[in-house]
Amino acid sequence: MNVFAGFEKRPGELTRQQLETCYFRVKDNPPDINMARGLPSGAQLELANSFLSLPGKSDFVSGNAIDWRNYGDLQGLPEIRELVADLLLGLSADQIAVGENSSLALMHEALGYAFSHGLYASPRPWGKEPSIKFLCPVPGYDRHFSMCEDYNIEMVPIPMLETGPDMDMIERLVASDPTIKGMWCVPKYSNPSGTVYCGETVARLARMRAAAEDFVLFWDNAYAVHHLTDDEVSNQPIAQLCEEAGHGDRFFVFASTSKIVLPGAGLAFFGSSAANLAWWLSHRKYRTIGPDKVNQLRHLLFLRDSQGLSDHMRKHRSLLAPKFERLEAQLSSGFDGVSHVRWTTPKGGYFVSLDLPEGCARRAVELALQAGVALTQAGATHPNELDPCDSDIRLAPTCLDLETLDVATQVLVLCVLLSIAQQEYFR
Ligand code: PMP
Repeated sequence: MNVFAGFEKRPGELTRQQLETCYFRVKDNPPDINMARGLPSGAQLELANSFLSLPGKSDFVSGNAIDWRNYGDLQGLPEIRELVADLLLGLSADQIAVGENSSLALMHEALGYAFSHGLYASPRPWGKEPSIKFLCPVPGYDRHFSMCEDYNIEMVPIPMLETGPDMDMIERLVASDPTIKGMWCVPKYSNPSGTVYCGETVARLARMRAAAEDFVLFWDNAYAVHHLTDDEVSNQPIAQLCEEAGHGDRFFVFASTSKIVLPGAGLAFFGSSAANLAWWLSHRKYRTIGPDKVNQLRHLLFLRDSQGLSDHMRKHRSLLAPKFERLEAQLSSGFDGVSHVRWTTPKGGYFVSLDLPEGCARRAVELALQAGVALTQAGATHPNELDPCDSDIRLAPTCLDLETLDVATQVLVLCVLLSIAQQEYFR
């Protein structure tokens, strides 16, 4: 399918009428493509085929002498904690606890304990505070924002810069407003921009003065080992920097194996200071006798060790990197010569962030949907789904094959150009 067939000029040079001709042609015979969410592809899921037949009848005996088939071990098997602690959380095995299958569920749980009991350093439960605010770097992850909505947490958008979120603004707000209790951070290969928080940003987050004594960073390391290039960004030393700055309890790290093995059948992890980990387990013990150790052993047998985990992630990369390269090439040629359209080129993670002229995102997404390509809802990358500039679209190329991705990107380019042309026309 060539969306621009019959026109010699670059897409960006086509008139509004010519773009409309292309558009109605696609709309008459629309593809049926969904690139709304960052799902692993079928080929990626197949990488975990042997995972499905594990652990089998294993004679594994854990170092802590707990029978993996029985109740118990609230913190998780030491062997699985050893395997993932440094690679996925940048922490040591004794600083982390294994949860069930979803890190988002652990974030929700942490907020639940904060609201009902308060954090380790809270003067009172958050639920007894008149209001609670969280800082939300934008563009950001919609499920973080909807979690805040669920808890009635007021969200304060913070612009994302190339170095990470705007630290001048953060320092000013956090120092002066004691109702700001937390901040969402996806410090590496951020969703959706792929931004990596630079060393200075991480150091400033660790050392800044906070008016709330229980201010905490929700450090969502969802893309810890999800590299797309040889430049594999290491985990930022948030724990060490917080400790050195005298704010040793300021961070909760979350991670999971959702996009390592199978989403929904992975393991999720919580990590923090000794005091926070004790706080976590002291509440968790009322919720469960212990998480699923069969799945922990399944992971151990499948991934084996940190080398096995890294080797496995290279297989994911070999399936994913060509898609990101193709998307980059298609955007570059599609928007050649078009001003005010920019996109990110991530070194890892699952997304690309597309930035359009003000007022064009919602219309472009709507046009694409009518032409058979479902994109992430415009606004989803902002708190309360309100992108004040209506300029940001999250692109999720991972689950499409290259041919389908080509078609989706051409339709996207067409709809963006048409949205810009229509906006200029109506101005
Ligand atoms: N955090 C971020 C930043 C994500 O992008 C995702 C997946 N889209 C998740 C968390 C979900 O993690 P889990 O499957 O462990 O709940």
